[in-house]
Amino acid sequence: MNMKIDLPKLELGLFPTPLAKLERLSTMFNCNIFIKRDDLCGVGVGGNKVRKLEYILADAINKGCDTIITMGGAQSNHALLTAMCSRKLGLEPILFLKKRGVTSNDGNLLLSNIIDAKINFIDTDHSSEVQKEALKLAEDLEKQGRKPYFIPIGGSIPLGTVGYISGALELFSQAEEEEKDIDHIICASGSGGTQGGLVAGTKLISKNTKVTGIMVSPEENFENTIMDLGNEAIKLINAEERIKLEDVILKDYIGAGYAIPSKEGIEAIKLLAKKEGIILDPVYTGKAFAGMLDLIRKGYIKENENVVFIHTGGIPGLFAVKLNG
Ligand SMILES: *Cc1c(COP(=O)(O)O)cnc(C)c1O
Repeated sequence: MNMKIDLPKLELGLFPTPLAKLERLSTMFNCNIFIKRDDLCGVGVGGNKVRKLEYILADAINKGCDTIITMGGAQSNHALLTAMCSRKLGLEPILFLKKRGVTSNDGNLLLSNIIDAKINFIDTDHSSEVQKEALKLAEDLEKQGRKPYFIPIGGSIPLGTVGYISGALELFSQAEEEEKDIDHIICASGSGGTQGGLVAGTKLISKNTKVTGIMVSPEENFENTIMDLGNEAIKLINAEERIKLEDVILKDYIGAGYAIPSKEGIEAIKLLAKKEGIILDPVYTGKAFAGMLDLIRKGYIKENENVVFIHTGGIPGLFAVKLNG
C-alpha cells in the first residue's frame, strides 16, 4: 500500500494516532474490538476535526486569509477545534453558534473562552440561519480589507473529507503492520465528512472492509451527502475509484434527538470507562459505541471479526451535560 495524497497539508495534530485493542470488551463480546484514538490527536482535547483542518486551513493560509469563521451547535467540537487550530497558526477565529438555551459556559464553550475565540450566538434552531449570519460577517470583513475564510458546519467539505481518506490510509497501514485484516470500521456520523472520507479511503485499499456510520442526528438524504463528499474528495486526490450509494451504510441510533443523551449511550460511556479506562462523549461517540455493541449483539458484526471503532473525540461535551442514566 503506497498511496500518497498530494495536496497542501499542515501538521496540526500528532499523527498517527494509536490503534489499540480493547481486550476486556473483546472477550465480553466475542470479537476483536480495536479503537483508533483520534481523541488523542494532540490539539485541544482531541477529535476528528483536526484531520479535516490540516487540509482546510492549509488552503486558508495559501489564500492569504487572516480570519477563520466557522459555525455549529452551542457545544460544537468542530468550532472549538477550528478556533484552537486557528490560534496555533496565528489566525483570528470567529465562531457562530446556535444559542439553544445556553446558560452556562461549560464544556467546549469554556475552552473557547480560554482562547478568547469570538463567539456570536444566533437564536435559532436552523443551521441555514446561522450560516447566513456567518457569511454576512465574512462579507463585511472583506469590505474592511480583512481576508476571512469560511468553513461550513463540521468542516464537511471535500477538502476536509480528504482528511479522513488520509485517516483511513493511516489506519490500514497500521493494520498491515500488525498483519490484521479489518472487517468493520464504525464511526459516528454527523455532517458526513468523516464517514465519506473513511468510505472513500477504504474503497482505495480494501474490498473486504465494511464502513458503517452511526447516525446521531436526523439528516435528510444523508447517504447521498456522504457519497458526494467521498467522491468529491477522491477527485481532489486524483484517484480513479468512485464510491456508490450502496457503499454508504448508516444505522440509526439517534434516540430522542441530536445532543440528547440516550440511555444506551450513557451505558456505553460507563462500560468503556469501567472496563478499559477510555472516555467517550454523550453526543457522538457514546451513541456510536452503543450502536456498535448492539450491532455485535444482533450478528451484523460476527463472532471473531475484527472491528475498528473510530474514537472521534468530543470529550468536552461530557462536561456540559447531566448524566442521569
Ligand atoms: C463532528 C463529530 C463527529 C461527526 O463527524 P462528521 O464528519 O461531522 O460526520 C463525530 N464525533 C465527534 C466527537 C464529532 O465532534
